[in-house]
Amino acid sequence: MRRMRLKQLEMQLAGLETFDEPSPSREQYPTPPDLAARLLYHAFMRGDIEGKSVCDLGSGTGVLAIGAALLGASPVTGVEVDPRAIRIASRNAVRRRVSVRFIEGDLDDPALPSKVGPHDTVVMNPPFGAQNPHADRIFLDKALEIAPVFYSVLNRGSRDFLTRYIQDRAHIVETVQAVLSLKRTFSFHRKDKVDIPVEIVIVRRTSF
Ligand code: SAH
Repeated sequence: MRRMRLKQLEMQLAGLETFDEPSPSREQYPTPPDLAARLLYHAFMRGDIEGKSVCDLGSGTGVLAIGAALLGASPVTGVEVDPRAIRIASRNAVRRRVSVRFIEGDLDDPALPSKVGPHDTVVMNPPFGAQNPHADRIFLDKALEIAPVFYSVLNRGSRDFLTRYIQDRAHIVETVQAVLSLKRTFSFHRKDKVDIPVEIVIVRRTSF
């Protein structure tokens, strides 16, 4: 397959269908195409996408899972609690002619990692815990159970928390500064557009 460029990937992801009625308590917002493409391309350049099994935790409308598949990941799995999001994500995968297995499941379910099975790489844009404090921790725990490396979007400034939270299990390999440009999604958002400073973090399981 001819290697897709970053800009092409971003365009492919920009044309996807998004949430029709996002749920605030689940912090459902799609990763903007530029940020999603950047995270995926970075993972691709580090050798963690092409020919690798990739799992997207909280796959929502599927942008990260589908992008990984477009860059040559196989097999690709998306895990998502909301069946409405899975329906949209499945349509998006068909539209982009890629094969992604979407599993309806809750990360809070202890049996989930064995249902999902081990993967080479996890990609995710988890809830930041803005509505539900600690909603993010379950994503970190499950990511480390499912794959030896994960790529995640993180609120800038939470790196110290992350370092402490994963210590003894994993370490941060790299962080990349980025911006999440969010259009007004929920009624409690006051501005039409907000730029949230974020980081793309790459975390690897520590082996002993
Ligand atoms: N990965 C998508 C969506 C990010 S929003 C994207 O990049 O566009 C976070 C997603 O995680 C939402 O779709 C939400 O429904 C899902 N989610 C939140 N809590 C979850 C849980 N406990 N188990 C599974 N999915 C969850």
